[in-house]
This record gives sequence, structure tokens and C-alpha cells, in this order.
Amino acid sequence: MTTVSVDSEYAFELALCSHLEERRDWVLGRQLGASVADPGARVVDVCAVEPGPEFDRRAAITSETIPPRAVESDVGPGRAVDPVDAFDCSPDVARRAADRAAEVGFFESERRGSRRHVRATTRYPDWIGRLIGVENKPDLGRPGDLERQLRRDVALGLFDVVVLATESYVTGAHLNRIPDSVGVWRFSGDELTVIREPTPLAPGAPGIEPLADRPLRTDVAVVSAAAKARKRRAVAERAYGKGWRPDAYPGCASMCPTDEGLPYCAAFDRVVHPGRDCGESCSAFEAADPPAVDRAALRDGRTPWVADPEGVARRQTGLDRFS
Ligand code: SF4
Repeated sequence: MTTVSVDSEYAFELALCSHLEERRDWVLGRQLGASVADPGARVVDVCAVEPGPEFDRRAAITSETIPPRAVESDVGPGRAVDPVDAFDCSPDVARRAADRAAEVGFFESERRGSRRHVRATTRYPDWIGRLIGVENKPDLGRPGDLERQLRRDVALGLFDVVVLATESYVTGAHLNRIPDSVGVWRFSGDELTVIREPTPLAPGAPGIEPLADRPLRTDVAVVSAAAKARKRRAVAERAYGKGWRPDAYPGCASMCPTDEGLPYCAAFDRVVHPGRDCGESCSAFEAADPPAVDRAALRDGRTPWVADPEGVARRQTGLDRFS
């Protein structure tokens, strides 16, 4: 692995993902929604999915995210049904979700007169083992909202374990300020030291989600075990489809991605954020062809994720598409 400077939270996060990818049998995604009652209120830095018993069956379906709504719908592998009747949402949303599920090969469609019906190409597999939520805070001297975020994660218990990753030297005072069940890793860019092991949470039980802090009170929502299970599946699916590498690398002469796919900039001698740092407004920008990075091949070679599975659609109906 190439050692890179981790002098920004983004660089730290990517270096950590690359390190974990190389050493653990995990599927990683970054920046994923991790709240249930108040969607969007909490975004976890990194979610790691430990493969469950039917991981290979999941990997065989598609390299992309299977829409969670499609998994939750009443569409199964048996009789084909009208998606509008089988989804618990508006007809338009149902059609879009079913369309996407067909695109990724989890549904196949057939015509019944003027209507399209869908069935699942396979039973949804039991592929999600443990979910590990990682919050990155390279500099504990600037903790921001860290303590509150971790308390929230522990109270909700969406993940099996939660870990704080930092580059800082971790003192007893730091440890006292974060919940006991949160694990702590010290990560320097090429070396990870476990300072404290996490204590397992209870994702199978109801959780408490803080909603909004007001003076002298915090509103909370009780989140059922079933709602947590749905969210866990959605987070895992998103992590599976999204991964952690940048979507694109800038067409700049200084962009020299590392062997692991980190967007390293030679002009500034560090990993940069392509979406934030790069472009014509950058003082050192020099137009060039974007570097060729085969992100899928990198991910496929280093993780259990499969870039180009054959799919499980039955040929006779699998080519049908929604209008
Ligand atoms: S645009 Fe700027 S930050 Fe981005 S690679 Fe080029 S020189 Fe580096």
C-alpha cells in the first residue's frame, strides 16, 4: 500500500478505507445515511459490511445497489404481480423502484395485456453479517459534534459495533468523553492500532433516536427493531453499490491516483477531494485527460464484491423492460 499524507478528514477517510480493504474481508462504503426516524440527520463516515452466509448469492445478482423498496415489496420469485399493488408507496415511486430493480437484475418483467408485471429473479439472500460503523475524527483536538454523534449511534444501535478512528494520540480524558461501548482505533496512514475494542450493540432490539436538541430537553423517537432491520439492509445495500473511491478523477495534469485509487495530487503533494479541490478554479490546474482508474477492477481484486456478475435473470423474460 502507498502511504499518503492524511492531512485532511477526506484523505484520512480514504486512507483508512484503503487500509481496511487490504486487510479485512469487508465491503466498505462511505458517507451513508444512518438515521431512521429523521432521515438525513446522521451520515456515518464509513460503513463496513462483514459478509453473511449468503454473500456469494448476493454478489451474483448485481454489483450495484438493489433498491431497498424492491426488497421490502411483496414481489417475490413466484407469480408476477403489478408493482403498483406490491409496493407500499405511490404508484410512480413503485414503478421507478421496480424499474431500477429490473435494471440491476433483481426483478424481471413480463407483459399481462397492457400491464407490466414483475417477479423477483431470486429470493433476497441473507448476505449481511455484522455492520461496523466508523466515525473518523483525525484530530481529537477539534472534536466538533463527535461526542453527540457517538452517543446517538450507541442509543440507536443500528450498527453491530461503532468505532472512532483518529490520528491523534488518545488520552484517558478522550476515552472518558466517548461512550464506553465505542471502540477506538489510532490510524496513522499506514498503521492501525486498536486502542479499545468496541462492545457489541443490540441492532436486533428497538433503539432510541435523538431528534432535536432544545434547551433543557431532547426529543427522541423509539425506533422498532423492524425499522432498524430495514435501515440496516438499506445501508448495507448502499455500501455494496457505492464503495468508497471517488466517482471520478479530474482531468488535470497533476492528478496521479495511487495504486489503490486514492486521488493524489502531485502539485500539492497530498490526496485531494476531486469534487471540492479540483477544477479550473484551482491555482495549479492544468487541463489533461482524466487518469484511467479502473475502480471496479481494484475493488473486485481487493474485496468480496464482484464487479461484473453473470446475474440471475431468467433469459426468457429477463430482457423485458418497463416503459
Ligand atoms: S485541480 Fe488542483 S488540486 Fe486538483 S489535481 Fe489539479 S492541481 Fe491538484
